[in-house]
Amino acid sequence: MSTTLPVPLLVYAQHQSVLDLEPARDVRATLPVANSTKSFWFTDPDVTPLPTEGSEGPLTDDADICIIGSGITGASAAYHLARSLSDGKIANALGRPVKAVILEAREFCSGATGRNGGHLVSHTFFDFLKCQTEHGKEEALRSYNIEEYVVKEVTKLLEENSKGDDVDLVAGGRLILFFSKEELLEAKSDFLAAKEIGLDLSGIQWFTKEETQAKYGASYPSVLTPGFSLWPLKLVGVLFSLANKIGSGSSSSSPTFSATLHTRTPVTSILPIPQSSDINAVFPRRHNLNTPRGNISCSYIVHATNGYASHLLPHLTGSNGIIPTRGQIIATRAKVGLDILTRTGGTGNEGLEYWFPRPVKQPDEKYPLVILGGGREVKPQFQFYEIDDSIIDKEVGKALRAFLPAVFPGRFEPGNEPEIEWTGIMGFTRSGDPFVGPVVDHNNSSNNTAYEGQYVSAGYTGHGMPRAYACAEVVSQMIVADIKKEKWEPPEWFPRVYLMTNANRKEYAKV
Ligand SMILES: Cc1cc2nc3c(=O)[nH]c(=O)nc-3n(C[C@H](O)[C@H](O)[C@H](O)COP(=O)(O)OP(=O)(O)OC[C@H]3O[C@@H](n4cnc5c(N)ncnc54)[C@H](O)[C@@H]3O)c2cc1C
Repeated sequence: MSTTLPVPLLVYAQHQSVLDLEPARDVRATLPVANSTKSFWFTDPDVTPLPTEGSEGPLTDDADICIIGSGITGASAAYHLARSLSDGKIANALGRPVKAVILEAREFCSGATGRNGGHLVSHTFFDFLKCQTEHGKEEALRSYNIEEYVVKEVTKLLEENSKGDDVDLVAGGRLILFFSKEELLEAKSDFLAAKEIGLDLSGIQWFTKEETQAKYGASYPSVLTPGFSLWPLKLVGVLFSLANKIGSGSSSSSPTFSATLHTRTPVTSILPIPQSSDINAVFPRRHNLNTPRGNISCSYIVHATNGYASHLLPHLTGSNGIIPTRGQIIATRAKVGLDILTRTGGTGNEGLEYWFPRPVKQPDEKYPLVILGGGREVKPQFQFYEIDDSIIDKEVGKALRAFLPAVFPGRFEPGNEPEIEWTGIMGFTRSGDPFVGPVVDHNNSSNNTAYEGQYVSAGYTGHGMPRAYACAEVVSQMIVADIKKEKWEPPEWFPRVYLMTNANRKEYAKV
């Protein structure tokens, strides 16, 4: 197998051991930087909502629910709140629609979601044995089922609303290339174990090195799994618009929910409101959110801030919390057409590199742009605790530029400069599982009263597109159940280990 790749191979164990280390310096997240790089996804000015919606004029000063962050988590939370409240019961009790406000530090969806690799792909069977050993059979199944659920629901939602073309949804699949024998053997063992336990593995095809070369032009054994690519910023715009459409009711019913967006409005701190006289109201106000544009009081908070979560939740600082991690991406032009390149995306090197060809849409466009991310493994610290997405790393950029010409000889011009290059901040956790649900501080329970009414869904470890949508759905269900004073029951597909309240998380284990 090739040894001429521009990235070191078999680094996952090292990646994990660096992730496990407690950092020596203060690593509490800052607010998102103001002068971030510009991703490909922001090159189309024709987007809804506008990137700066609600950034001027008076700030809403009171809401029932504040959602902090306007990526896929924040927008999905708004969408699912709208759906759960659409029966109108709470709006009737209040005599008005339930009011949510989305507060975004920069432009709409300018965090990881607006800067990512555009893959909407489930894990299918990868890492199955590790997952089963750590969490048992039932939980392992859930952690794959949630991703299948998200891919199915998101594509269905786009289809039902005729938005597939608007977000460039392509069912091109994902080709996983095995650069080493060890990776291939591990994947085969995971596949067999997952099959035995009953995961749906239909649509998966294995290829030898020769078959991969003939079909895709890369000389490595591979496996093809189902999967989609899309324009993530536009998907988030669809969710936000649908939230307000659902909330506005129909000709025969009154509005039940509204979501107001305030961009360029960073939340700098959250202070508790002392128990007020409206204790018996449907929504007693509990929190005061401070922003440079003024304050806003509310009853419930959703922290949808992913890599930035520890700025407002300081106990999530460090290796047992959410670790900001910088990812880098280039958009580079292929030198062959989609007829040769195919519409299939791919990953390699234990998932550290990921790419897909964009549809060819412009009249003067002959060959597709390929979006390629990765390269963190050329840095000894894997870009952990890097929170500045105005910075482009030269060494990572060098590896990215050399990657596709090395893997697909003849299909990319060596030395070709990318058309765009950008970075974005992911939120890693040591376990790889996001923190979802009511915010708790396991080390200092005296803080927990102040966290009542605060929920989080963050820390997707670079794999958020097939998880965030459903995790935000769960948080929305929890809030609506709390409002209605009902007991929340987890959906069958939801991994219980994702819950922040679950004391069995790796992050809470005593060392
Ligand atoms: C380079 C890169 C490539 C990736 N590729 C993929 C991929 O191909 N497939 C995949 O599944 N996942 C990928 N991911 C991961 C995926 O993008 C994330 O897991 C997912 O987008 C997280 O969504 P989110 O809404 O939780 O967070 P974000 O999209 O980061 O949204 C959080 C928002 O909160 C805002 N915010 C933060 N703090 C505050 C505050 N105090 N006040 C107000 N607003 C605040 C931020 O500005 C940001 O807009 C990638 C990520 C990166 C960075």
